[in-house]
Amino acid sequence: MTHDAAVLKAQKVASDVLAPSAGQNDKLGRFSTEAVEALGESGLLGLTLPADVGGSGLGPSTFAAVMATLAEADASVAMVYLMHILGAATISAAHSGAAETVAPMLREIGAGRHLSTLAFSEAGSRSHFWAPVSRAHRNAKGVHLSARKSWVTSAGHVQSYVVSALAPEGTGPTDSTLYLVPAETRGLSVVAPWDGLGLRANASAPIALEDCEIPSDLQLTDDGAGFQAMLNVVLPLFNLGTASVALGLCRAAVAGTVTHLKGAKFEHLGQSLGESLPTLRAQLATMQIDTDGLSARIDNLVDQLEKPRETTMLRVLETKAAAGDIAISVTSTAMRVCGGAAFSKHLNIERLFRDAHAGAVMAPTGDVLREFIGKSLLGIPLF
Ligand SMILES: Cc1cc2nc3c(=O)[nH]c(=O)nc-3n(C[C@H](O)[C@H](O)[C@H](O)COP(=O)(O)OP(=O)(O)OC[C@H]3O[C@@H](n4cnc5c(N)ncnc54)[C@H](O)[C@@H]3O)c2cc1C
Repeated sequence: MTHDAAVLKAQKVASDVLAPSAGQNDKLGRFSTEAVEALGESGLLGLTLPADVGGSGLGPSTFAAVMATLAEADASVAMVYLMHILGAATISAAHSGAAETVAPMLREIGAGRHLSTLAFSEAGSRSHFWAPVSRAHRNAKGVHLSARKSWVTSAGHVQSYVVSALAPEGTGPTDSTLYLVPAETRGLSVVAPWDGLGLRANASAPIALEDCEIPSDLQLTDDGAGFQAMLNVVLPLFNLGTASVALGLCRAAVAGTVTHLKGAKFEHLGQSLGESLPTLRAQLATMQIDTDGLSARIDNLVDQLEKPRETTMLRVLETKAAAGDIAISVTSTAMRVCGGAAFSKHLNIERLFRDAHAGAVMAPTGDVLREFIGKSLLGIPLF
């Protein structure tokens, strides 16, 4: 699959499957299994995997474009897709001890029949996902693990979870290991339904692992090397992906606002809202400027990831921090410009507004990113 073919497929899934049901799924808090099927059938679940497992081997540029396209139609599904791509990337980067065992799963992902996700955040360490408080305990076959994972996107709808825990012999707070835990593993359960303010249709529920047996060939990283995988494999793609979701939300907010300003009338003046009020036109213009600014930031991050250099990690941190704020700002302006019609849920703007608030609180949160950026500028160690 080429870049253009992937984006076309994403556009088709977005217009045929996501857009028609996004509003209703949001209202009901319903996870869209049709969306996952469509993503699988279109070959998008294996977008970034290598060709030898049936993937398309495409890079950050295509990934970002696909993410933004999906998010413009339904940010809940886009986030399901993002967490899957991250799960797949982590499984694909497994160390040699797991390579043979995970190969069939990677082929299932390549064939569009396997959805994965990340289960990092824990009730005990909250948004500090790099410091799990759960610890794996070694036994004859591998490890056994008990953990309380506080939010896991697609919980109950995946075939596998990529789970973090402190390594059995780890001594520091970031000495974690990553494990691949098949959904049918005894002791793994979804403990509560998901009922969020936004991203309501992505089943970001808590899961519990109660004394789960994990064989050594499902250990994805060396002991204590989970933290490096989080930084090197997950963080760049996660930050690019969440920024692209924010861009999709901004684009949808601009489009929805344009439609409303053209369609809603002051009948007594014989004009549309947009024709009548310069203040609304100015606010719309600000939304467009911010949206295009975010798009340029994402293009820059893609370039940095494709040709890594000294500033790349800084851009990784900055882009997600900026994107979270921009999405909140653009969708908030859309709420104001579209007035009572948006407030009364006559338009899709309020869904975009609620969805946009997730980006800044998903770890690394906007505040933590600022803390990291400030420390790195001052030469202070981050951890
Ligand atoms: C919709 C959704 C989907 C999610 N999906 C997943 C998933 O699939 N997998 C997964 O592992 N996790 C997932 N998460 C969890 C997410 O990544 C965060 O861990 C979670 O949102 C943190 O919430 P908290 O209340 O624990 O934050 P807290 O840690 O309690 O933070 C509270 C506030 O303190 C601020 N803060 C915390 N630490 C610092 C610091 N050092 N410096 C400055 N400010 C700080 C935060 O920015 C925040 O404003 C999801 C969350 C949401 C909302």
